[in-house]
Amino acid sequence: MPIYELPCSDGTDRHCTGTVEVPISIERLTAEQLKEIQDSGGTRLTPAQLASFELDDQERKELKEFGSVYFDIDIDDICDPCGSDQTYDDEGNNISAL
Ligand SMILES: [Zn+2]
Repeated sequence: MPIYELPCSDGTDRHCTGTVEVPISIERLTAEQLKEIQDSGGTRLTPAQLASFELDDQERKELKEFGSVYFDIDIDDICDPCGSDQTYDDEGNNISAL
């Protein structure tokens, strides 16, 4: 599986310059696609990137119409140095979802 190196997402430490190595089962993702995956949890994949996917009817239609298909891609991009994925208030409550 390809390993992509992503910059630390804005989390507890906004000045963290660390990077996170994330395995994603899609070849040759561009920097723009990686950013979109990190920002919104998915991206549009090109026909070449979709080659190893079984597309359903809806996805085939989308590919024909737009030339790409949107896929949700979950990544684990927790940055060890700063724990970038979680936010805590002063009392130690996890407020990440707020
Ligand atoms: Zn970090």
